[in-house]
Amino acid sequence: MRKQYPCVEVNLSKITHNARQILSMCKNRNINVIGVTKVFCAQIPIVEALLKGGINCVGDSRIQNLKRMKKLDCHKMLLRISMESEAEKVVKYSDVSLNSELETIKVLSKKAKQFKLQHNIILMVDIGDLREGVLIEDALDIVKEIIKLDNINLIGIGTNVTCYGGVIPDKNNLNKLVSLRNDIKNIYNLNLPIISGGNSSSLYLVMNNTIPKEVNQLRIGEGIVLGRETSFGYAIPNCYDDAFVLKGEIVEIKDKPTVPTGKIGMDAFGNTPRFQDKGIRKRAIVAVGRQDIKVDGLFPLDKNISIFGASSDHLILDVTDSINILKVGDIIEFKMDYGCILAAMTSNYVKKYYERQPEYALVNC
Ligand SMILES: *Cc1c(COP(=O)(O)O)cnc(C)c1O
Repeated sequence: MRKQYPCVEVNLSKITHNARQILSMCKNRNINVIGVTKVFCAQIPIVEALLKGGINCVGDSRIQNLKRMKKLDCHKMLLRISMESEAEKVVKYSDVSLNSELETIKVLSKKAKQFKLQHNIILMVDIGDLREGVLIEDALDIVKEIIKLDNINLIGIGTNVTCYGGVIPDKNNLNKLVSLRNDIKNIYNLNLPIISGGNSSSLYLVMNNTIPKEVNQLRIGEGIVLGRETSFGYAIPNCYDDAFVLKGEIVEIKDKPTVPTGKIGMDAFGNTPRFQDKGIRKRAIVAVGRQDIKVDGLFPLDKNISIFGASSDHLILDVTDSINILKVGDIIEFKMDYGCILAAMTSNYVKKYYERQPEYALVNC
């Protein structure tokens, strides 16, 4: 069968491998890994690859995605703070949700009761990043109210950092969660089983062995997808960074100057472009654009190809130095960063192909 372009090819064996690797690194420290599926829109073949790697709970920020995974045999976590308007779906499609608003938790309680369900929640605490979570000083009062609610089980506290404020998780800020958990135990005689210590930015603390031993859950997306922690961008040992590859087709290839001719105004996105004169270069146009990808998150696998830029539907490459004799119809391959994978997986114009290889065929990463 002829493939359609542009497309993302996902190597499911590499995803399974990465999941297994990260899980075993975390299991050594009694940390369970929630496999986060939002960057690939919870596409079922990829979720199944996570489960094959040993993941037993998946997390997504959107109810639609959790609903899609309903039949899969694993626990489901809603990652984005619940919308009050979706409370019914939250209790129906997730086993556990992350929350920070008492009013919403009360609605979840009502809905859970109505449908005779027990709903688990993790209370999110803001330890400095200023995205979601109650402030540490308000946490005890809120816990006091949550534990009065019917059909709601408070099973833990959690935090999220390095998302808005760029705050890096460390012993100091994560230990705030540990002492909060101890306070909750002392004051309310409630032993919360889970401390959810963040996302892929917390993995470096597992790698260098400084994560507080009480942290027993991490919610990992990028780590599994791209094989790296996200505080500093360190590679995770023995993981692949090329499980997702974007492929696009050349629709024009010509030698042209590097500086446009004529008066320069605004480009299609309202910016005034600047150009460096590199003389005449061989330029290839690939049929994919900003509607489908994030240009600065694309990395040609052919190291001798560089990116001039892109408009909505056209990606313009400098292929002068490529050792391959490229022609119209040829396919160019790219690695992607997180934002680019997110865009490509979300775009309806990008086909998705899933491939499995036998384990022995995996080359060393
Ligand atoms: C997206 C998300 C994660 C996963 O983040 P990664 O950096 O991809 O590991 C974890 N927790 C929450 C609340 C999220 O929204």
